[in-house]
Amino acid sequence: MTTSLHATRDLTKNQSLVYSALYNADGPLSAYSILDLLRKNGLRAPQQVYRALDKLLERGLIHRLESINAFVACTHHDHTRQSVIGFAICEICERVIEFSDPKLTHRLTDWAEGEGFGIKKTTIEIRGLCEACAAGSPPIQHAGHK
Ligand SMILES: [Zn+2]
Ligand SMILES: [Zn+2]
Repeated sequence: MTTSLHATRDLTKNQSLVYSALYNADGPLSAYSILDLLRKNGLRAPQQVYRALDKLLERGLIHRLESINAFVACTHHDHTRQSVIGFAICEICERVIEFSDPKLTHRLTDWAEGEGFGIKKTTIEIRGLCEACAAGSPPIQHAGHK
């Protein structure tokens, strides 16, 4: 993953800790789970995590999933301001699949131009079942989670 290494080179210590926690997670993490994971690294205050999350969001290295109030590491790194960013969130294993579909982006950009609406950010969150869970064999790492 050369892109992400390159993009994370000049992060502060807390920012890289938070980023690696998200990057290595199997699914989305809430700010409090991140804090729990990083206590052993010396992070104590939720404020430290929130500050790092804000910076990482600003730089486009992570995304916030509004519907479940959790964060994931970005797997694309090539979003533009107009890009539609989509997330398919599995309700059983909590896996998140990030996608970016140029056709969707064009449709919405056309619509926005027609309406004279200036788009700042478009995020689509889809809830459902991933392929494995739909087939009845959810990955086991999240068993007992929640
Ligand atoms: Zn992304
Ligand atoms: Zn699943």
